[in-house]
Amino acid sequence: MGDRVIVTLGCAECKNKNYTFQRGKKKEFKLELKKFCQACGKSTAHKEVK
Ligand SMILES: [Zn+2]
Repeated sequence: MGDRVIVTLGCAECKNKNYTFQRGKKKEFKLELKKFCQACGKSTAHKEVK
């Protein structure tokens, strides 16, 4: 408890929030992953959103 944060990844094209996962607080890097977006119907860049 306390050292994990929930990160949400949203589609860069339609802004849909498609994925969540946990990570440690210490890693402050910005995530950007290629993920499948159901709203777009294709793989798009997904970025961390708050
Ligand atoms: Zn999308």
